[in-house]
Amino acid sequence: MIRLKAPWEIAMMQASGGRLAEVVAILEHAIRPGLTGLELDALAEEEIHRRNGVPSFKGYRAGGNRAFPATLCISRNEEVVHGIPDDKPFRPGEVVSIDVGLQYGGYHADTAFTVAVGEIPARVQELLDATRESLYEGIARAVPGNRTGDIGHAVESHVAPRGFSVIRDYVGHGVGRDLHEEPTVPNFGQPHTGVLLKPGLCIAIEPMVSMGSHLTQVARNGWTVTTRDGSITAHFEHSIAITESGPLILTTL
Ligand code: MG
Repeated sequence: MIRLKAPWEIAMMQASGGRLAEVVAILEHAIRPGLTGLELDALAEEEIHRRNGVPSFKGYRAGGNRAFPATLCISRNEEVVHGIPDDKPFRPGEVVSIDVGLQYGGYHADTAFTVAVGEIPARVQELLDATRESLYEGIARAVPGNRTGDIGHAVESHVAPRGFSVIRDYVGHGVGRDLHEEPTVPNFGQPHTGVLLKPGLCIAIEPMVSMGSHLTQVARNGWTVTTRDGSITAHFEHSIAITESGPLILTTL
């Protein structure tokens, strides 16, 4: 069931998203060589609580999985999504994807970004740039009258000509009172297909892009998703509201 939000609910989601954007700015500033994922996770949890929020991911269960143990998903290099923070220090040359959700006043916000730790190869920087750009290409299509396929088509059309491939096993989603609501928002698709976008629909658009194959596998811990061929990946996400006047990015300052 798709739950369209009333204007007052979108205002609540802006309050959640704004808080989450503040936390993200702090995390982006904090990531450096030597810091561990567990240290970054503790910082995120503290900053979420400081804003009277609740981490959306901690304790989250997806279809029979054991509860996710942390505030952040930290996915490094060939890890695509759902990485579990650990005590291994970040090293120069790594790319680190941070996915974080916050619930405030009963409404969730969900966002993700990928950063380079120190110097990275030019081609990997191209991956990060193309993936970030593809998110905004997708957001630009999130207008009333379009369909989810228009968003996915825009995302894939931006990254595929650059030699990158969109992950197909994991997709964006509706967001609101639940972290994951209908509809699904794939990062691929055909124009004019999929779910019709209406004012009040709130969705998380989240391109995940690989330098190599799009095929994935899940680690024994039941969570961490990696590319099967070991290719580096990037992930960028915003929660947005579809309004009469266009897309409103919720997870921004
Ligand atoms: Mg998400």
